[in-house]
Amino acid sequence: MQIKKTVIASILFAVICAGGFLAADTAYADAASAADSTAYDSTPDANSMMMRKWADYGTLLSDDNSDLNPNAPVLREEAARMLSTIILFRSERYNYSPLAFSDVGEDSPYYEHVKVVALTGVMNGIRSDVFGVGQVMTREDAAVVLYRVFAAYLDAKSVGSFNDLWQSSSWAGGSIMLLAGNGIVHGYSDGRFRPHNAVTRLEFVLMLDRLMPTPGKVRVVLPDPKNIPDFDRTDPKPVVVDPYAHLRDKKLIALTFDDGPFREQTPRVLDELSAKGVKATFFMTGNRAQAWPDTVRRVVNEGHQLANHSYSHKSLTGMSAESVKWEINHTNDLLEEISGVRPTVLRPPFGSINARTAETAGMPIIMWSIDPQDWDGKTSDYIVSFVTSRARDGDIILLHDPVSASIRATPVIIDMLHREGFTFVTVDELIAVRGGAENGTVYYRFR
Ligand code: ZN
Repeated sequence: MQIKKTVIASILFAVICAGGFLAADTAYADAASAADSTAYDSTPDANSMMMRKWADYGTLLSDDNSDLNPNAPVLREEAARMLSTIILFRSERYNYSPLAFSDVGEDSPYYEHVKVVALTGVMNGIRSDVFGVGQVMTREDAAVVLYRVFAAYLDAKSVGSFNDLWQSSSWAGGSIMLLAGNGIVHGYSDGRFRPHNAVTRLEFVLMLDRLMPTPGKVRVVLPDPKNIPDFDRTDPKPVVVDPYAHLRDKKLIALTFDDGPFREQTPRVLDELSAKGVKATFFMTGNRAQAWPDTVRRVVNEGHQLANHSYSHKSLTGMSAESVKWEINHTNDLLEEISGVRPTVLRPPFGSINARTAETAGMPIIMWSIDPQDWDGKTSDYIVSFVTSRARDGDIILLHDPVSASIRATPVIIDMLHREGFTFVTVDELIAVRGGAENGTVYYRFR
């Protein structure tokens, strides 16, 4: 909280300097502090109050001024419009010719907004001649542009981290670390930031609101690149808290469930895992996810990892590169659309993979090291003894959602392996603790 107060004080100062007015809304401030005590989100009431406040200020627009679409993704031109409402912009200070973006002509409704963010250096085009109208902002994009606006008011020595910071782009990691250290981004309750997910309107405005609890204008002072920690750079050594300290030197094992979601069985698997407090990884097919979207969301809400098992569960090795790409990307898009989380790893149907398919996949390919072939009429006793007799540190266990014997075996396996000192982790956690995974590479275990 100390850091946050400093931030607010600096920004209020900026608002005063900018000729804004100082009207602290204490009722709202209380709601905001309450929201900060939760991992990511605030209460729905506090959220809608907050969004309404920014709508009243003119930062958020809605079609009929009632639905502020908190869960809609932010497009680049919308981000430009929102930011242009808070950036102090004196056009006479800028010596400019018309913008050179082919998708933002002078007759574009976004022209003035894009002018503000482009000339202040807050947003660049996706290319020198294209702004990227219609393209979705990711969470890391949002972190970068908000950091640029508010850099001068943040404590450059406070850095934080997330379990999946390694997945963020090299140009974004430093901004995410600084926003995290200053309490502006909280990530999800599982300790991840999910940098490549689309940023929603609620998330974007929530970050903005933590930076600037009272709407006003900010004078942009772009950060000196030297002051942005670069998590790829080894000198100077970045100060990163190890989010996996509690998992290092532990015997780790990952439970994975394939082929779901199924209407009845997947919820039973989830009940068993929840009773034991264990997180697993669910490799789902796109077509089944479309059929049972509520179950997909439950998997994510309960902290499990959602992963890609193709769209139609056909062998990828016989397909054209184009079809393979579609099977994988369409499933990533669907799962992300349904759950808000984009899968990070792929398991090809039947484990069928060849070099060409692996290269086309564009994701790490996760196989397994323990397979009781549960789909082949095995009893739960057989599955338990097959798995527990083979389990070693770093193994990945393959089970299937719809197999009742596996659902019955799950709590027994968990109890037995817990007694042997194993810690159950998701595949992403296993990857992060054991040195990472590369796109197109096939992994069977992580020792
Ligand atoms: Zn399968």
